[in-house]
Amino acid sequence: MRITFAGSGDAFGSGGRLNTCFYVEAEKTDFLIDCGASAMISLRKFHINPNSISTIVVSHLHGDHFGGLGFFILDAQLISKRNTDLTIVGPPGLEKRHRAAMEALFPGSVDVARKFQIRFIEMPAGQEIILENLTVTPFVAEHFSGAPSYALRIKCDGRILTYTGDTQWTETLVAAGLNADLMIAECYHPDRQLKGHLDLKTLKQHLEEIAPKRVILTHMSSAMLDNLDNIDLEAAYDGLVVTI
Ligand SMILES: [Zn+2]
Repeated sequence: MRITFAGSGDAFGSGGRLNTCFYVEAEKTDFLIDCGASAMISLRKFHINPNSISTIVVSHLHGDHFGGLGFFILDAQLISKRNTDLTIVGPPGLEKRHRAAMEALFPGSVDVARKFQIRFIEMPAGQEIILENLTVTPFVAEHFSGAPSYALRIKCDGRILTYTGDTQWTETLVAAGLNADLMIAECYHPDRQLKGHLDLKTLKQHLEEIAPKRVILTHMSSAMLDNLDNIDLEAAYDGLVVTI
């Protein structure tokens, strides 16, 4: 499984980084984890064909994580000429929020005829969703987004990929990340415990318990990015490619 960090930034462009957008190439399917507002810029920048993406998994309903869906769909219709169906998986309320966002950004674009179907799957917390070539288990995170925010545990090709989403520390992260082949962890600040966000100091206190095989930090504020030389964990950057 090959993961491209096509967007590793926070909501505010810290360090000039793009919003969250991870492209995963697996044996039988390619999928996206989060589709932040700048996702189409990410895909173009790293030469990723949007039509290769069968599924988009959304961690939570903030613009830097789901705001690119409307752009992706419009590109699929008008530019990339998609003709295969698209599955979008995320928290309850996903379809309604997406429709409202897309209508606000591109009035009249939501219900037009297209050469592909869009299937929305809204995941109840804690319930494993089995898709064609991957399974996703959402764990409730601590991050206000007007809907449940999730940490995601994804199984595909016999590997476990965990993404914390945005969250302050919560015990559900242990189950979400337990023995994962790769845990992509939000790391917003070196040591300040901010509401709704994870910091490096707190994360490190729990890594032994979670026991992931590999950890990569993402969604970093400028306070983190200014300190990257002093940390002993791997940190993402836009364009980082890893194989697990
Ligand atoms: Zn975010």
